[in-house]
Amino acid sequence: MVSLLKVKDLTTRLNVRGRQVKVVDQASFTLERGKTLALVGESGCGKSMTALTLMQLIPKEILGSIEGEVLLEGENLLKASTQRLRLMRGSTLSMIFQNPGASLNPVYTIGDQMREVLYIHEGIEEEEASHRVVNALEEVGIPSPKARLDCYPHQLSGGMLQRAMIAMALLLKPKILIADEPTTALDVTVQAQVLDLMRSLQKEFGMAILLITHDMGVVAEMADDVMVMYATQGIEHATSAALFDQPLHPYTQGLFAARPRRGGVKKRFEAIKGFVPEIDNLPTGCHFHPRCPHKMDKCVHGAVPSFVQDKSSVNCWLYEPTRKL
Ligand code: SF4
Repeated sequence: MVSLLKVKDLTTRLNVRGRQVKVVDQASFTLERGKTLALVGESGCGKSMTALTLMQLIPKEILGSIEGEVLLEGENLLKASTQRLRLMRGSTLSMIFQNPGASLNPVYTIGDQMREVLYIHEGIEEEEASHRVVNALEEVGIPSPKARLDCYPHQLSGGMLQRAMIAMALLLKPKILIADEPTTALDVTVQAQVLDLMRSLQKEFGMAILLITHDMGVVAEMADDVMVMYATQGIEHATSAALFDQPLHPYTQGLFAARPRRGGVKKRFEAIKGFVPEIDNLPTGCHFHPRCPHKMDKCVHGAVPSFVQDKSSVNCWLYEPTRKL
């Protein structure tokens, strides 16, 4: 059976200060129907750029080039026409963002913005569209949904706005929902509600979720599979269970060590030393080498291949088969 989404060697370059700079470097992953794949890593590692490349939402003025393959049920989206892409956004692939307040238009009501989606994609006129929108708002647990149609975004709380964004993203029952840090801007209690909501809607509609997060707690709750990204590259692929059982890459191990723990003996988090490098000035060889406690001479030069270890794959010389661990 053809995978729902198969991304192969995706490479995106942006025009930065007169140079073409890679912001996604040969990312490869697969997303199956009804499953959740999490892209994990610190800010600036290329997670959101991967998502924006899939949606082809990077503004033309800054986009340098996109290479590789994005196969959606076998169709390469990178070769699709602008018109085809416009139709697919919303109906096949939909995206929710970290800050719903900045993503919704402040001068149109929630009702207008959601009805427009139905009008553009399905040609549905006002009365029927309003009925569908009220149902969608009800589905995501917004109280008095009819009354919310005439609300402007600033009249809703953060949690309510994120629910409205989710309702809008799911209006056309997309096959894939891309959720970019969907709970980061929300209070902890609202975060839990939104994650619950996404899980139950996924169950109901059978959609796949590409979840972008830096929060390992969210990964544990939501993800079936994980790709850890560092400095534009996917550096570890594993099932969520395998990753939590035994993180392999020193960067992934660092992310786990930096997690807050409840009631543990540790008093301090173990931060990963140093910073994520600037994308236009990446270290040679393994991009993680300046921060890695296991750095070897060969880590500094040349690309690091991917090694298979049990059911995971990891780009790190520590897992070279000939090496004695
Ligand atoms: Fe560390 Fe080398 Fe592995 Fe990179 S390849 S993570 S520098 S051991």
